[in-house]
Amino acid sequence: MTTTTARQKSHEIFERAQQLMPGGVNSPARAFGAVGGEPIVIDRAEGAYLYDVDGNQYVDYVGSWGPMILGHRHPSVIRAIENALSKGTSFGAPTEAENRLAELIIDCVPSVEKVRLVNSGTEATMSAIRLARGFTGRDIVVKFAGNYHGHVDSLLVAAGSSAATLSVPNSPGVTEGTTKDTLVLHYNDVDGLGAAFQAHGYRIACVIVEPVVGNMGCVKPGSEFLHLMRELTADYGALLIFDEVMTGFRVALGGAQELFDIMPDLTTLGKIVGGGLPIGAYGGRADVMDHVLPAGKVFQAGTLSGNPVATAGGIATLTALMQEPPYHQLEAKSARLANGLAEAVKVAEARAHLSRVGSMLTLFFSAGQVDDWNAAAECDTQMFAKYFWGMMDRGIYLPCSQYEAMFVSVAHGDEDIARTVAAANEVLSELG
Ligand SMILES: *Cc1c(COP(=O)(O)O)cnc(C)c1O
Repeated sequence: MTTTTARQKSHEIFERAQQLMPGGVNSPARAFGAVGGEPIVIDRAEGAYLYDVDGNQYVDYVGSWGPMILGHRHPSVIRAIENALSKGTSFGAPTEAENRLAELIIDCVPSVEKVRLVNSGTEATMSAIRLARGFTGRDIVVKFAGNYHGHVDSLLVAAGSSAATLSVPNSPGVTEGTTKDTLVLHYNDVDGLGAAFQAHGYRIACVIVEPVVGNMGCVKPGSEFLHLMRELTADYGALLIFDEVMTGFRVALGGAQELFDIMPDLTTLGKIVGGGLPIGAYGGRADVMDHVLPAGKVFQAGTLSGNPVATAGGIATLTALMQEPPYHQLEAKSARLANGLAEAVKVAEARAHLSRVGSMLTLFFSAGQVDDWNAAAECDTQMFAKYFWGMMDRGIYLPCSQYEAMFVSVAHGDEDIARTVAAANEVLSELG
């Protein structure tokens, strides 16, 4: 087994980065703040592996935080991007490729009849909420504690202590005015959901939810929870938005809505839909989407939206997923990994629980199963940090936070899974 401790070049580059960029990064999750220490700096990636600037190889379970379901540098994706590049990088005018990507999204995602391409998941959720408010003429947005929907001002709110509180912002710079119409509920809390609709139902524009949570670690929805959400939103004339930025094309080709057979009104997409290039999308019922400018009056625009290079990456990725759906294979591999990790937990008598939906999984250092943010917040994050660094030293690159899901890709082989389980056995037994 390789031991990867030489990280001198990474250290030097990160030192310089901290003088140039806030915290040395362009997105906070990369800074390893939650586990202490410094990030490795990446040189390149291939298949299931990352290579850092010191030449260390890692089995990559981050996959750029979700997009790389086919693994890195998948040949058909690289070819498509190269072809697109040869024709130009941006036109700011319609291309046929945008039709193709829209068709693929509409074919794959059951509830999507029309779609708008944007540049990130954040843009998708921000736009979907504006559309829901514009369509319904209502103000209140319901979200769930521990669900992340990008850095949209109105969604950057912490959970209240009671089941339903009109919330306060959890980032400086987000005004109370911006978040006063955001209602934060507990995930998987059926009673809280019912009570919120009873109290505010006809003022609710939409409910936005991660139908499988990835952003407090992988947390499963209770089936009653999502079904009740669909029922209540329909009864009260509110829209249901599934934020499938992470779950779209991940837990099934058609996302969580296919897996659970629930049709939301709007769906937000990102990550896999761009195949590693910056794309987001929002789509859904045609009668709702036709309220977006220029068909309707809800404003939303983007200079680089539908960018030809990014679109090519998305088309190639979705085409590969459609032609050879990898979901059975991903399920089998991920189950093997999850079972191996759970067994390692048992042998080491570690206080940890494995949670998994398809190829999304999290090892929670928790006393019991995690089904909402309150339970997630109880995790022993110090223990997670030790586990994380133990795995790093054995060439396994995990998300650098207890509250992120790890991802299995098409490129992970049996040997990678076996190596990961072996590493976990060593690390967990040392944790005591
Ligand atoms: C990643 C993520 C987002 C934000 O997407 P960005 O492309 O990072 O802006 C939104 N919602 C969910 C569920 C996500 O996982």
